[in-house]
Amino acid sequence: MTVEAPNPGGMRLPGMAGTGLAPYPHQTTFSVLTLGSGSPELNPARASACTGIQYRGAYYLVDTGNGSALSLLKGGSYGPYRHRDIAGILFTHLHQDHVTDYFDMVTTRWSEGGKRLDLVGPPGTAELHRFLVTFFGDDLRYRLRGGDRAGIDEEGMFRGVDIRELTGSREFQLGGVRVKTAELTHSLLNLAYRFEADGKAVVVSGDTAFDRRLIDLARGADVLVVDANPWADGSAPPPGGAPSHMSLPEVVRVAAEAAVGTVVLTHLWPLPVDEALVRRTQSVFSNGGYSGRVVFAEDGLEVPV
Ligand SMILES: [Zn+2]
Repeated sequence: MTVEAPNPGGMRLPGMAGTGLAPYPHQTTFSVLTLGSGSPELNPARASACTGIQYRGAYYLVDTGNGSALSLLKGGSYGPYRHRDIAGILFTHLHQDHVTDYFDMVTTRWSEGGKRLDLVGPPGTAELHRFLVTFFGDDLRYRLRGGDRAGIDEEGMFRGVDIRELTGSREFQLGGVRVKTAELTHSLLNLAYRFEADGKAVVVSGDTAFDRRLIDLARGADVLVVDANPWADGSAPPPGGAPSHMSLPEVVRVAAEAAVGTVVLTHLWPLPVDEALVRRTQSVFSNGGYSGRVVFAEDGLEVPV
């Protein structure tokens, strides 16, 4: 018999927890990390929804869809991202493809020594965290007792998680970042977030049908990370029922009217982003009067703000 070890020594990435190596050095103080660029349909190439806002080395994650906890470890071009640098988690809405890696994300963060956490989202968000610390309470307390994890205590899990449940338009501070919200149109309550720092702004739409409130929130933003699901290929949404996502021309209308600098298309179906799709997308954007930059999100991509 043979034992095959295609990757002898296992996958040991620089900067992984426990190696003592430095985390990925960000090239700019403010950037967008597309950690989950996929849709609810499982896709080996794309985790479900998760967008990281990096500001001075702290991460504010918008959504934690399936696979996104692993996406941090996979990292970007220069290496992995540390879970313990997550300073806040913000949910746009509580559909599974935006939520289900919350447990792994927060538990890994806490196990790596992450302390106080800001947790923001629509009503129901507090219940999610409560479920984590009750359903998995024995597991978490077992980890807490583990002598090999020096430096972890109850903070960041059983206490020190500052939970805010929001609806509508709000404005608040998270560390060095000003956050503004707008409630948009989806099959359940969806909050879009605007992050402002150093005179720059990033907006993350979450899932939404066409909604003028997104244009208002995104006005003049440097980067708009927008739900382009599932019609980024320009095909029409199925007939009937209230729309809960935008067609591509509607995405273009938002980008053009809000005059954003860069549009990042995310929440992508498993369609091949090939030359033909890029060309079609380009023509829809230029026909819609948008002259900025358009980027198809990829897991691990970093877009400087
Ligand atoms: Zn959704």
